[in-house]
Amino acid sequence: MTRMCMVIDQRRCIGCQSCTVACRTWNDLPMDIIYNPVLCEGTKGTWPNVHRNYLPTLCMHCENPECVPCCPTGASQQDEDGTVWVDYKKCMGCKVCVNACPYGMRDTSTSPYVKRFDQYVRKCTFCRDRRRDEPGKDPYCVQTCHQKARIFGDLDDPDSAVSKLIGSTETFRLLEELGTEPQIYYIPDLGGRR
Ligand code: SF4
Ligand code: SF4
Ligand code: SF4
Repeated sequence: MTRMCMVIDQRRCIGCQSCTVACRTWNDLPMDIIYNPVLCEGTKGTWPNVHRNYLPTLCMHCENPECVPCCPTGASQQDEDGTVWVDYKKCMGCKVCVNACPYGMRDTSTSPYVKRFDQYVRKCTFCRDRRRDEPGKDPYCVQTCHQKARIFGDLDDPDSAVSKLIGSTETFRLLEELGTEPQIYYIPDLGGRR
């Protein structure tokens, strides 16, 4: 089996938002949609030993996604490798899945520049299109992160970089208590940058 996941290393992230811009560019997003916001968690420490923590967020590609079974048209789907995506041709924009996602990672555009038939639900696709066209290729936000804070791979492959990192380093996931089994793992910044 294959289970794609992303590790985000908060020790390396400097909050530059290159990934946000790269994602917007690759997916040609309307101005009011962001797949990949980078949140600032605040400043820690006291001068001169201070640093800021950043939390890049995106669809968690949950193993048990709330957004898939609730979709009345079957537009919201999950691939065998765990990638959760929306078939835009089937989506009628009802936003049931938007309300079901506990992470707030889906939305429709309300931009007046978006045509009515393009008002489908959007969210991070784990760059499914890039990976389909060139197997083994990283998502664009991974490729463009100059700090190498984002690592992508197959968690079912014990030799993959993500498996080795998760097996050897402390990680956490968001809202793990909900049982959605999010596939974004964070390495916390406990005070020391790499
Ligand atoms: Fe952080 Fe990398 Fe995104 Fe910059 S590009 S905000 S370093 S994850
Ligand atoms: Fe679905 Fe939300 Fe999980 Fe993404 S984060 S798979 S949109 S429930
Ligand atoms: Fe955007 Fe692709 Fe990264 Fe998802 S995996 S945040 S779609 S660049």
